[in-house]
Amino acid sequence: MWVEELRSARQRKLIGKEILFFPEVDSTNRQAYDRALGGAREGLVLLAEGQSRGKGRLGRVWESPPGVNLHASIILRPPVSPAVAPQIMLLAGVAGANALARASGLDSRIKWPNDIYIHGKKVAGILSEIKAEGPRIQFIILGVGVNVNWRKEEIPADLQEMATSLRAEAGREFSRALVAGEIFEELEREYALFLQEGFSPRLREEWNRLSWINRKWATITMMERKFEGQVQGLDADGALLLMDREGNTQRFIAGDVSLRI
Ligand code: ADP
Repeated sequence: MWVEELRSARQRKLIGKEILFFPEVDSTNRQAYDRALGGAREGLVLLAEGQSRGKGRLGRVWESPPGVNLHASIILRPPVSPAVAPQIMLLAGVAGANALARASGLDSRIKWPNDIYIHGKKVAGILSEIKAEGPRIQFIILGVGVNVNWRKEEIPADLQEMATSLRAEAGREFSRALVAGEIFEELEREYALFLQEGFSPRLREEWNRLSWINRKWATITMMERKFEGQVQGLDADGALLLMDREGNTQRFIAGDVSLRI
């Protein structure tokens, strides 16, 4: 069983040290949220073979058949203020892109705020849900969905244009234990560094290096308003910079925001 392989692959200090596996679940994020409310420890990972109601952002749906892809949710309890949560999304993107590149050898890029793209198509999504009380984050649930062994022809028609999988791009199957292991390892490293250094110049540079959108023209939608401009990358605080045709620059914080190229 691949989950056993994942459990025994490597001693992990935090992320994936303990893994709960479900053959089928409504949504790993929902389950993780409930467990976090109940006091579950930081680093706990929930993995499901299939999800009946996988979540995307802003009430959208994550479609993925059972048995071929990865659906994982990770509980974090960073001792920081809720204002820092968007920076944790950014580090998760860096960890995810580096992990998929290591696992597959494919050029894996970040599409702000929360997706991983390979060859211009979405291969993974990261969803964060946060519970904060006053000045502190109580917990963050990072949901990670990776299209691993989905065959190209099995990707639903409505996603064909925009979605892909590691298998579709590489032309071979991947071990889900290996892919998940890389994700946990990269996340553990980036998270530990983040707790020491915060949103460091290194993390910013790494994000900009991995960005799929820098220098492209994009439309950002925020609460019904649309902004158009050329993506300038992240600033020192982790805000995304967009420069419009007049040369004015706007800052955007990852949140309830969508970006289209
Ligand atoms: P975005 O932020 O790009 O709008 P979300 O992170 O909210 O997207 O993810 C949900 C959206 O992603 C869905 O509306 C659908 O278009 C797309 N989607 C759903 N399932 C998958 C999948 N397995 N792979 C790639 N894209 C998907």
